[in-house]
Amino acid sequence: MSDTDKTEIEAIAVEAGAAPPAIIEDCSRCGKPVTLCVCQDIQPIDNKIALLVLQHPQEQDKALGTARLTTLHFKNAVFKTGLSWPSLTKALGRAADPKRWATLYLGSADPALIAPGQSVVALDAKGKLLPMQEMALADIDGVIVLDGTWSQAKTLWWRNAWLLKSRRVVLAPSRPSLYGKLRREPRREGLSTLEAAGMLLSKLEKKPGIESALLATFTKLLDLYRLQPPPPGAVDGLRSVKSGPRRRPPRRYSRG
Ligand SMILES: [Zn+2]
Repeated sequence: MSDTDKTEIEAIAVEAGAAPPAIIEDCSRCGKPVTLCVCQDIQPIDNKIALLVLQHPQEQDKALGTARLTTLHFKNAVFKTGLSWPSLTKALGRAADPKRWATLYLGSADPALIAPGQSVVALDAKGKLLPMQEMALADIDGVIVLDGTWSQAKTLWWRNAWLLKSRRVVLAPSRPSLYGKLRREPRREGLSTLEAAGMLLSKLEKKPGIESALLATFTKLLDLYRLQPPPPGAVDGLRSVKSGPRRRPPRRYSRG
């Protein structure tokens, strides 16, 4: 927070007759304000399929963002913030073949074409369902999840040409995001980064425990979040979403 921001906040607080908001420290591990930290109980999972989360530098939802929290759940996971990397190898920090990786694509598959019970779907470059689903979803070394708003994620997709070499997968979740009305998500399936990565790795590794471990953490985070006093100007306890595409208040000074 800049000094100008602080002065403005103090001015607003004085106007409202309240004390200036206390500066809440951030957890050095998960990056969340300590009042929202749920990372101490996380037991990292020994995942065979690697996870790479690429976060747009302007994604700043410190309170409800889940990217760092997601990667903390896995022994084999990398979290990077940036706009572009010359290759998957550079982004990951070790040699990797993008053809053996799958990117969680921002588009969605025609629900009519998805078989019952099928929750991870492989698409071709035109966004059509691949005929050999089992083959397309086999031998995947790792998955890439883009973190940010819809337009930020789209920017990441187009700025990193090597992503086009990776396989494309989409999710067909059977339930809506636990975020509920708290926030909108960039992908069509509407899940948080944590829910999406949990579902994807859980299905690909055929270990339902992965998804449930991540969801347990997410539920704890949302419970803590809902306990927080709403910041000035919040309506009906809704902090970040109004109507239309995901929008945030210009400043979320109460929580960083
Ligand atoms: Zn933490």
